[in-house]
Amino acid sequence: MSKFRSGVLYGQELMDLYADAKQNGYALPGVNAVGTSSVNGIIEAAAKVQSPVIVQLSFGGGHFYAGKSLKNDTMQASAAGCISAAMHVHQVAEMYGVPVVLHTDHCSLENIVWIDRLLDFQEAYYAKHGKPLFSSHMLDLSEETLEKNVGICEKYLTRMSKIDIGLEIELGITGGEEDGVDNSKVDASKLYTHPSEVYYAFDKLSKISPNFSIAAAFGNVHGVYRPGNVKLSVEILENSQRYAEEQLDAAGTKPVSFVFHGGSGSSPEDIAKSIEYGVIKMNLDTDMQWAFNCGVRDYYQEYRDYVAEQIGNPEGADLPNKKYYDPRKLLRAGEAAFVERLEQSFADLNCIGRNK
Ligand SMILES: [Zn+2]
Repeated sequence: MSKFRSGVLYGQELMDLYADAKQNGYALPGVNAVGTSSVNGIIEAAAKVQSPVIVQLSFGGGHFYAGKSLKNDTMQASAAGCISAAMHVHQVAEMYGVPVVLHTDHCSLENIVWIDRLLDFQEAYYAKHGKPLFSSHMLDLSEETLEKNVGICEKYLTRMSKIDIGLEIELGITGGEEDGVDNSKVDASKLYTHPSEVYYAFDKLSKISPNFSIAAAFGNVHGVYRPGNVKLSVEILENSQRYAEEQLDAAGTKPVSFVFHGGSGSSPEDIAKSIEYGVIKMNLDTDMQWAFNCGVRDYYQEYRDYVAEQIGNPEGADLPNKKYYDPRKLLRAGEAAFVERLEQSFADLNCIGRNK
Protein backbone atom coordinates (compact mmCIF):
# COMPACT_ATOMS: atom_id res chain seq x y z
CA MET A 1 0.00 0.00 0.00
CA SER A 2 1.46 3.36 -0.97
CA LYS A 3 1.25 6.44 1.20
CA PHE A 4 -0.10 8.86 -1.40
CA ARG A 5 -2.45 8.49 -4.36
CA SER A 6 -0.86 8.08 -7.79
CA GLY A 7 -1.69 10.86 -10.22
CA VAL A 8 -1.79 14.63 -9.75
CA LEU A 9 -2.30 15.76 -6.13
CA TYR A 10 -4.24 18.89 -5.20
CA GLY A 11 -5.92 20.66 -2.29
CA GLN A 12 -5.69 18.79 1.00
CA GLU A 13 -3.54 16.06 -0.59
CA LEU A 14 -0.85 18.62 -1.43
CA MET A 15 -0.89 20.01 2.10
CA ASP A 16 -0.71 16.47 3.53
CA LEU A 17 2.32 15.73 1.35
CA TYR A 18 4.20 18.86 2.47
CA ALA A 19 3.26 18.19 6.11
CA ASP A 20 4.67 14.67 5.75
CA ALA A 21 7.88 16.08 4.25
CA LYS A 22 8.32 18.55 7.08
CA GLN A 23 7.58 15.95 9.72
CA ASN A 24 9.95 13.36 8.30
CA GLY A 25 12.78 15.64 7.24
CA TYR A 26 12.78 15.44 3.48
CA ALA A 27 12.10 17.80 0.58
CA LEU A 28 10.66 17.14 -2.87
CA PRO A 29 12.59 17.98 -6.01
CA GLY A 30 10.75 20.55 -8.16
CA VAL A 31 12.08 19.83 -11.62
CA ASN A 32 11.60 22.06 -14.65
CA ALA A 33 10.22 20.36 -17.74
CA VAL A 34 10.25 21.57 -21.34
CA GLY A 35 8.75 18.63 -23.21
CA THR A 36 7.64 15.02 -22.90
CA SER A 37 11.24 13.83 -22.58
CA SER A 38 11.75 15.82 -19.41
CA VAL A 39 8.26 15.16 -18.01
CA ASN A 40 8.63 11.41 -18.54
CA GLY A 41 12.19 11.48 -17.18
CA ILE A 42 11.05 13.23 -14.00
CA ILE A 43 8.25 10.73 -13.38
CA GLU A 44 10.45 7.77 -14.33
CA ALA A 45 13.04 8.79 -11.73
CA ALA A 46 10.31 9.24 -9.09
CA ALA A 47 8.95 5.76 -9.88
CA LYS A 48 12.45 4.29 -9.45
CA VAL A 49 12.94 5.82 -6.02
CA GLN A 50 9.26 5.28 -5.03
CA SER A 51 8.69 8.90 -4.04
CA PRO A 52 6.34 11.70 -5.06
CA VAL A 53 7.78 14.42 -7.29
CA ILE A 54 7.09 17.96 -8.52
CA VAL A 55 6.87 18.62 -12.27
CA GLN A 56 7.02 22.33 -13.02
CA LEU A 57 6.91 24.57 -16.06
CA SER A 58 8.19 28.07 -16.56
CA PHE A 59 6.43 30.38 -19.04
CA GLY A 60 9.36 29.75 -21.40
CA GLY A 61 9.03 25.99 -20.87
CA GLY A 62 5.31 26.22 -21.59
CA HIS A 63 5.95 28.19 -24.77
CA PHE A 64 8.49 25.59 -25.90
CA TYR A 65 6.04 22.78 -25.07
CA ALA A 66 3.43 24.35 -27.34
CA GLY A 67 6.00 25.14 -30.03
CA LYS A 68 8.56 27.91 -30.40
CA SER A 69 7.09 29.15 -33.68
CA LEU A 70 3.82 30.14 -31.97
CA LYS A 71 3.14 33.78 -31.21
CA ASN A 72 3.22 34.48 -27.48
CA ASP A 73 2.55 38.21 -27.14
CA THR A 74 -0.21 37.68 -24.58
CA MET A 75 1.23 34.46 -23.13
CA GLN A 76 -1.25 32.43 -25.17
CA ALA A 77 1.40 29.86 -26.18
CA SER A 78 2.86 29.68 -22.66
CA ALA A 79 -0.62 28.95 -21.30
CA ALA A 80 -1.48 26.43 -24.03
CA GLY A 81 1.82 24.59 -23.55
CA CYS A 82 1.31 24.36 -19.80
CA ILE A 83 -2.23 23.03 -20.25
CA SER A 84 -0.94 20.50 -22.77
CA ALA A 85 1.85 19.37 -20.43
CA ALA A 86 -0.63 19.09 -17.57
CA MET A 87 -2.99 16.93 -19.67
CA HIS A 88 -0.04 14.70 -20.51
CA VAL A 89 0.87 14.30 -16.84
CA HIS A 90 -2.74 13.57 -15.87
CA GLN A 91 -2.79 10.90 -18.56
CA VAL A 92 0.41 9.02 -17.58
CA ALA A 93 1.25 9.68 -13.90
CA GLU A 94 -1.01 6.91 -12.62
CA MET A 95 0.57 4.39 -15.00
CA TYR A 96 3.94 5.12 -13.41
CA GLY A 97 2.37 4.75 -9.96
CA VAL A 98 3.70 8.18 -8.96
CA PRO A 99 2.01 10.96 -6.96
CA VAL A 100 2.82 14.15 -8.89
CA VAL A 101 2.63 17.78 -7.87
CA LEU A 102 2.06 19.89 -10.99
CA HIS A 103 3.34 23.41 -10.65
CA THR A 104 4.25 26.53 -12.61
CA ASP A 105 7.48 28.41 -11.89
CA HIS A 106 8.28 32.14 -11.49
CA CYS A 107 5.67 34.59 -12.75
CA SER A 108 6.33 38.31 -12.42
CA LEU A 109 3.65 41.00 -12.55
CA GLU A 110 4.57 41.69 -16.16
CA ASN A 111 3.63 38.12 -17.16
CA ILE A 112 0.65 37.62 -14.87
CA VAL A 113 -1.75 37.22 -17.81
CA TRP A 114 -0.11 33.77 -18.15
CA ILE A 115 -1.50 32.74 -14.73
CA ASP A 116 -4.82 34.52 -15.46
CA ARG A 117 -5.21 32.39 -18.57
CA LEU A 118 -4.37 29.21 -16.65
CA LEU A 119 -6.86 30.08 -13.91
CA ASP A 120 -9.63 30.94 -16.40
CA PHE A 121 -9.13 27.55 -18.01
CA GLN A 122 -9.01 25.72 -14.70
CA GLU A 123 -12.11 27.35 -13.27
CA ALA A 124 -14.06 25.93 -16.20
CA TYR A 125 -12.22 22.61 -15.90
CA TYR A 126 -12.97 22.44 -12.17
CA ALA A 127 -16.66 23.07 -12.75
CA LYS A 128 -16.72 20.04 -15.06
CA HIS A 129 -14.27 17.64 -13.40
CA GLY A 130 -14.24 18.70 -9.74
CA LYS A 131 -10.46 19.16 -9.76
CA PRO A 132 -7.90 21.60 -11.13
CA LEU A 133 -5.15 20.72 -13.62
CA PHE A 134 -2.33 22.16 -11.53
CA SER A 135 -1.56 21.52 -7.86
CA SER A 136 -0.06 24.97 -7.42
CA HIS A 137 1.25 28.09 -9.13
CA MET A 138 4.04 30.46 -8.24
CA LEU A 139 3.81 34.24 -8.22
CA ASP A 140 7.18 35.98 -8.01
CA LEU A 141 6.38 39.60 -7.22
CA SER A 142 9.65 40.15 -5.39
CA GLU A 143 10.42 43.18 -7.56
CA GLU A 144 7.42 44.96 -6.02
CA THR A 145 7.23 46.36 -2.48
CA LEU A 146 6.45 43.82 0.24
CA GLU A 147 2.94 45.24 0.70
CA LYS A 148 2.14 45.16 -3.01
CA ASN A 149 3.65 41.70 -3.41
CA VAL A 150 1.63 40.17 -0.58
CA GLY A 151 -1.50 42.16 -1.46
CA ILE A 152 -1.64 40.71 -4.97
CA CYS A 153 -0.79 37.23 -3.66
CA GLU A 154 -3.75 37.47 -1.25
CA LYS A 155 -6.08 38.12 -4.18
CA TYR A 156 -4.71 35.21 -6.18
CA LEU A 157 -4.71 32.80 -3.22
CA THR A 158 -8.37 33.69 -2.65
CA ARG A 159 -9.16 32.82 -6.27
CA MET A 160 -6.96 29.69 -6.34
CA SER A 161 -8.14 28.20 -3.07
CA LYS A 162 -11.68 28.03 -4.47
CA ILE A 163 -10.46 25.46 -6.99
CA ASP A 164 -8.02 23.62 -4.68
CA ILE A 165 -4.86 25.22 -6.05
CA GLY A 166 -1.96 26.18 -3.80
CA LEU A 167 0.30 29.22 -4.12
CA GLU A 168 4.06 29.65 -3.88
CA ILE A 169 5.27 33.21 -3.35
CA GLU A 170 8.72 34.80 -3.43
CA LEU A 171 10.21 37.18 -0.88
CA GLY A 172 13.54 38.77 -1.61
CA ILE A 173 15.23 38.00 -4.89
CA THR A 174 16.85 34.79 -6.08
CA GLY A 175 20.11 35.88 -7.74
CA GLY A 176 21.57 34.69 -11.01
CA GLU A 177 19.85 34.24 -14.34
CA GLU A 178 17.11 31.84 -15.44
CA ASP A 179 14.71 31.66 -18.33
CA GLY A 180 15.76 35.08 -19.62
CA VAL A 181 15.24 36.82 -16.25
CA ASP A 182 18.59 38.29 -15.20
CA ASN A 183 18.99 39.06 -11.49
CA SER A 184 22.77 38.77 -11.51
CA LYS A 185 23.28 42.46 -10.78
CA VAL A 186 20.63 43.23 -8.14
CA ASP A 187 21.50 44.94 -4.85
CA ALA A 188 23.00 42.29 -2.53
CA SER A 189 20.70 43.22 0.39
CA LYS A 190 17.70 42.10 -1.69
CA LEU A 191 19.15 38.59 -1.83
CA TYR A 192 18.47 38.10 1.88
CA THR A 193 14.94 38.13 3.32
CA HIS A 194 14.20 39.41 6.83
CA PRO A 195 12.27 37.12 9.26
CA SER A 196 9.69 39.86 9.89
CA GLU A 197 8.94 40.01 6.14
CA VAL A 198 8.39 36.25 6.09
CA TYR A 199 6.00 36.50 9.01
CA TYR A 200 4.16 39.44 7.45
CA ALA A 201 3.40 37.32 4.37
CA PHE A 202 2.67 34.20 6.41
CA ASP A 203 0.19 36.04 8.62
CA LYS A 204 -1.70 37.64 5.72
CA LEU A 205 -1.91 34.49 3.59
CA SER A 206 -2.80 32.17 6.49
CA LYS A 207 -6.04 34.11 6.91
CA ILE A 208 -7.08 33.02 3.42
CA SER A 209 -5.82 29.45 3.10
CA PRO A 210 -3.08 27.24 4.58
CA ASN A 211 -2.22 26.04 1.06
CA PHE A 212 0.83 28.23 0.34
CA SER A 213 4.60 28.11 0.54
CA ILE A 214 7.30 30.76 0.63
CA ALA A 215 10.46 30.99 -1.45
CA ALA A 216 12.51 33.26 0.80
CA ALA A 217 15.83 34.51 -0.53
CA PHE A 218 18.82 33.47 1.56
CA GLY A 219 21.63 34.20 -0.88
CA ASN A 220 20.54 31.44 -3.26
CA VAL A 221 21.06 31.94 -7.00
CA HIS A 222 19.78 30.38 -10.21
CA GLY A 223 22.49 28.66 -12.22
CA VAL A 224 25.78 27.10 -11.25
CA TYR A 225 28.83 29.24 -10.59
CA ARG A 226 32.35 28.62 -9.34
CA PRO A 227 32.45 27.73 -5.63
CA GLY A 228 32.95 30.78 -3.44
CA ASN A 229 30.80 33.08 -5.58
CA VAL A 230 27.66 32.27 -3.62
CA LYS A 231 27.21 32.99 0.07
CA LEU A 232 24.24 31.02 1.38
CA SER A 233 22.74 32.06 4.72
CA VAL A 234 20.53 29.11 5.54
CA GLU A 235 20.16 30.58 9.04
CA ILE A 236 17.69 33.08 7.57
CA LEU A 237 15.25 30.18 7.23
CA GLU A 238 15.85 29.07 10.79
CA ASN A 239 15.50 32.60 12.15
CA SER A 240 12.29 33.13 10.18
CA GLN A 241 10.85 29.89 11.51
CA ARG A 242 11.75 30.85 15.12
CA TYR A 243 10.31 34.34 14.61
CA ALA A 244 7.00 32.90 13.33
CA GLU A 245 6.88 30.39 16.18
CA GLU A 246 7.29 33.24 18.71
CA GLN A 247 4.54 35.30 17.10
CA LEU A 248 2.22 32.30 17.09
CA ASP A 249 3.34 31.05 20.50
CA ALA A 250 3.95 27.67 18.89
CA ALA A 251 7.52 26.62 19.65
CA GLY A 252 9.00 23.80 17.56
CA THR A 253 6.17 23.63 15.03
CA LYS A 254 8.00 25.06 11.96
CA PRO A 255 4.85 26.83 10.71
CA VAL A 256 6.36 28.10 7.44
CA SER A 257 6.79 25.84 4.39
CA PHE A 258 9.88 27.05 2.56
CA VAL A 259 10.94 26.53 -1.04
CA PHE A 260 14.62 26.48 -1.99
CA HIS A 261 15.22 28.05 -5.41
CA GLY A 262 18.51 27.75 -7.22
CA GLY A 263 19.30 24.38 -5.64
CA SER A 264 21.70 23.35 -8.40
CA GLY A 265 25.30 23.27 -7.24
CA SER A 266 24.41 23.44 -3.52
CA SER A 267 26.37 21.39 -1.00
CA PRO A 268 24.66 18.39 0.65
CA GLU A 269 25.30 20.09 4.03
CA ASP A 270 23.40 23.26 3.04
CA ILE A 271 20.58 21.16 1.61
CA ALA A 272 20.31 19.08 4.79
CA LYS A 273 20.29 22.20 6.97
CA SER A 274 17.65 23.92 4.85
CA ILE A 275 15.40 20.85 5.17
CA GLU A 276 15.87 20.93 8.92
CA TYR A 277 14.64 24.55 8.85
CA GLY A 278 11.45 23.72 6.96
CA VAL A 279 12.27 23.52 3.25
CA ILE A 280 9.79 21.11 1.65
CA LYS A 281 10.62 21.74 -2.04
CA MET A 282 13.89 22.36 -3.80
CA ASN A 283 13.92 23.57 -7.38
CA LEU A 284 16.26 21.92 -9.86
CA ASP A 285 16.82 23.13 -13.35
CA THR A 286 20.43 23.91 -14.22
CA ASP A 287 21.90 20.59 -13.07
CA MET A 288 19.15 18.71 -14.91
CA GLN A 289 19.78 20.65 -18.12
CA TRP A 290 23.44 19.76 -17.80
CA ALA A 291 22.64 16.06 -17.27
CA PHE A 292 20.40 15.91 -20.36
CA ASN A 293 23.10 17.64 -22.37
CA CYS A 294 25.73 15.13 -21.18
CA GLY A 295 23.56 12.18 -22.20
CA VAL A 296 23.08 13.51 -25.74
CA ARG A 297 26.71 14.66 -26.02
CA ASP A 298 28.05 11.24 -24.95
CA TYR A 299 25.72 9.47 -27.37
CA TYR A 300 27.06 11.54 -30.27
CA GLN A 301 30.64 10.98 -29.17
CA GLU A 302 30.14 7.23 -28.92
CA TYR A 303 28.33 6.91 -32.28
CA ARG A 304 30.11 9.69 -34.17
CA ASP A 305 30.90 7.39 -37.12
CA TYR A 306 27.29 6.14 -37.25
CA VAL A 307 25.53 9.51 -37.38
CA ALA A 308 27.79 11.37 -39.82
CA GLU A 309 26.19 9.83 -42.95
CA GLN A 310 22.85 8.16 -43.65
CA ILE A 311 24.61 5.14 -45.15
CA GLY A 312 28.00 3.72 -44.24
CA ASN A 313 29.73 3.18 -40.92
CA PRO A 314 32.92 1.45 -39.64
CA GLU A 315 31.24 -1.96 -40.00
CA GLY A 316 30.45 -1.55 -43.70
CA ALA A 317 30.34 1.14 -46.39
CA ASP A 318 26.81 0.14 -47.46
CA LEU A 319 25.22 -0.29 -44.04
CA PRO A 320 22.26 1.99 -43.21
CA ASN A 321 22.49 4.09 -40.03
CA LYS A 322 18.77 4.61 -39.46
CA LYS A 323 18.75 2.92 -36.07
CA TYR A 324 21.49 5.32 -34.85
CA TYR A 325 20.02 8.63 -36.01
CA ASP A 326 16.42 7.88 -35.02
CA PRO A 327 15.73 10.90 -32.70
CA ARG A 328 14.42 8.51 -30.07
CA LYS A 329 18.00 7.23 -29.66
CA LEU A 330 19.53 10.56 -28.73
CA LEU A 331 16.49 11.74 -26.75
CA ARG A 332 16.51 8.51 -24.78
CA ALA A 333 20.24 8.95 -24.10
CA GLY A 334 19.42 12.42 -22.73
CA GLU A 335 16.53 11.03 -20.68
CA ALA A 336 18.66 8.24 -19.20
CA ALA A 337 21.33 10.68 -17.98
CA PHE A 338 18.57 13.00 -16.69
CA VAL A 339 16.93 10.17 -14.72
CA GLU A 340 20.24 9.09 -13.20
CA ARG A 341 21.06 12.66 -12.10
CA LEU A 342 17.60 13.11 -10.61
CA GLU A 343 17.94 9.91 -8.57
CA GLN A 344 20.99 11.53 -6.97
CA SER A 345 18.93 14.64 -6.12
CA PHE A 346 16.22 12.49 -4.53
CA ALA A 347 18.96 11.02 -2.32
CA ASP A 348 20.38 14.51 -1.49
CA LEU A 349 16.89 15.59 -0.45
CA ASN A 350 16.41 12.52 1.77
CA CYS A 351 13.50 11.68 -0.53
CA ILE A 352 13.89 7.96 -1.22
CA GLY A 353 10.96 5.57 -0.68
CA ARG A 354 8.67 8.35 0.53
CA ASN A 355 5.58 6.84 -1.08
CA LYS A 356 6.00 3.47 0.62
ZN1 LIG B 1 13.58 29.94 -9.08
